[in-house]
Amino acid sequence: MTATTEKHVFQAEVNEVLALVVNSLYSHREVFLRELISNAADAIDQLNFRALTDHALLGDDKELRIELIRDDQAGTLTIRDNGVGMTREEMIGNLGTIARSGSKKLMQSLSAEQKKDVTLIGQFGVGFYSAFLVADSVTVVSRKAGSDEAWSWRSEAKGDFEVAPAERAGRGTDVVLKLKDDAKDYLGEWQVREVVTRYSDYVRWPIRMQIDRGGGDDKKLEWATINQASALWTRGKADVTDQQHRDFYRSLSQDWADPLAWTHFKVEGAHELTGLLYLPAKAPMDLVERRKSGVKLFVKRVFIMDDAQEIVPEWLRFVRGVVDSEDLPLNVSREILQRDATTRFIKKQVVGKTLTLLEELAAEGETEREVDGEKAKTDRYLTFWGEFGRLLKEGVYHDVDARDRLAKLLRFRSTKDEGWHGLQQYVARMPAGQTAIYFVAADSLPTAKASPHIEALQKRGFEVLLLTDAIDEWVVDALRSFDGKDFVSAAKGALDLPESDADKQAKEAKEKELAPVTERMQQALAERVKTVRVTDRLTDSPACLVSDEHGMSARQERVLRDAGHDVPQQKRILELNADHAVVQKLAGLDDAQFADWSALLYDQALLAEGTLPSDPAAFARRLTALMAKG
Ligand code: ADP
Repeated sequence: MTATTEKHVFQAEVNEVLALVVNSLYSHREVFLRELISNAADAIDQLNFRALTDHALLGDDKELRIELIRDDQAGTLTIRDNGVGMTREEMIGNLGTIARSGSKKLMQSLSAEQKKDVTLIGQFGVGFYSAFLVADSVTVVSRKAGSDEAWSWRSEAKGDFEVAPAERAGRGTDVVLKLKDDAKDYLGEWQVREVVTRYSDYVRWPIRMQIDRGGGDDKKLEWATINQASALWTRGKADVTDQQHRDFYRSLSQDWADPLAWTHFKVEGAHELTGLLYLPAKAPMDLVERRKSGVKLFVKRVFIMDDAQEIVPEWLRFVRGVVDSEDLPLNVSREILQRDATTRFIKKQVVGKTLTLLEELAAEGETEREVDGEKAKTDRYLTFWGEFGRLLKEGVYHDVDARDRLAKLLRFRSTKDEGWHGLQQYVARMPAGQTAIYFVAADSLPTAKASPHIEALQKRGFEVLLLTDAIDEWVVDALRSFDGKDFVSAAKGALDLPESDADKQAKEAKEKELAPVTERMQQALAERVKTVRVTDRLTDSPACLVSDEHGMSARQERVLRDAGHDVPQQKRILELNADHAVVQKLAGLDDAQFADWSALLYDQALLAEGTLPSDPAAFARRLTALMAKG
């Protein structure tokens, strides 16, 4: 330690990430090389991008590359790049803290069990710290492009790191790993080459290493490029293996699991575009709040930006990948992107190709495939739906252009069976006489299934969609209809079920007969209901509550209120089942009894929807009194 060396302590979360990485990734420790090479490639990308406008930045050092230097004597492996480099402050900030506040929060929310799960840990972007999987100590020497100062950063991962002035011939970064005794393998030419071929072959900058061309005792070291060094997406579709896709996806997404599916496309003609889009197999824990796009934008093979939101709609934020345009200017900025017509074209392609991929998966159904090394029957679309279906619903709501294609990709629970059902299949199954798509919304599947509102529909053999996701009713409202069939809520307006003339007459007769009761009840419940009327949707229950045809449903009101919106309580319509024994007894009750029974019917209609009556104690009291009499 020299006089100018400063000691810093790691941010608390860094220590935790370090411990996690070292413990849980031990059996995958060769990934350290991929992570460090990936950082080096990013640093070169950034330099290359800045050099577009600042030509002097490259200086004499124009051949951008990554070098791997094996030093047997010192027992070190160095990953060197001539990329953008880091200033002293950047080193302290980037290598001593976990910058992304989301990662920090996620970290704190993980249970001990979850911390053993590498796929979850992958979400933190632990890249650099994986160096400690194989190294006792790590020294980083870096010089920022355009600066003549170099700095070194050194740590043994024991809670602190040191920063000191250093020497470095040109710009860029050296990451020097003092290998652990049991990791000395990585001094071997063959071992390093193998890991590079396996994980980093697609890296778009040359990875160079000295290799022995002599053989035997006669050593003759020569520099050679050990990766293909061409961007994966520029290769022919047939030239990229599944394994290369998996590796590329992992480096791109920092996900430890394999992608579920991908699409590799080229668009030629007025606009030229290449893209590689991946669907993850698992949603990140912050899927709903996360607003970033996972697609990187390149122009003519030059990296331009991460998180290119202009070319990917928000609802497609689960997609990971790259898009490489031949048409955008190299000096493209966010402002230009927002104005450029090419952006709209690219966005349309990204949406279109993703939808096509999803449609293919949906058509594929259940197939036998290899999942994490084992053969198993899976339905990839349903796996996707379980993880990301929520975002497709957002798409239906926000993206009018994609709505029709998205509607076919939606999946719902229904009264048919336990499975997921698409709207096309629902419509194909509709019996003669059914003209609408019926749905009922509730907080849980059992509540939806037991809902009194769907009794008559089920009796007629009409399938009912069971909507349990808070946003479902808005999605259905946005769609209005599918394949010419309107969506009809079982709990709103009049159901208008087809009926014979005889049925109609019988219903009118019942309405007449019950008119004194409905009027009397309307007075008794004037504070709470808008009207009381005879129902056509009940067969077994005595009463239910329904909303106006065009009003919000009770559940929509509740969802909004839970989200902190100020929504006035709307009075609903109480419907009575004229054939029910309880309803038939109503006419003979005295005023006090009638008031009690009315209140009970109202409260139990609420309960059947999963809503607590406003005065549960009063409900219990009335019920007990009734039982005592019986
Ligand atoms: P991530 O790559 O996910 O951001 P890392 O922990 O791998 O996370 O790296 C942290 C940061 O350190 C990077 O974002 C980058 O700013 C910086 N960094 C790491 N390696 C290099 C390098 N070789 N050259 C320049 N900057 C680097």
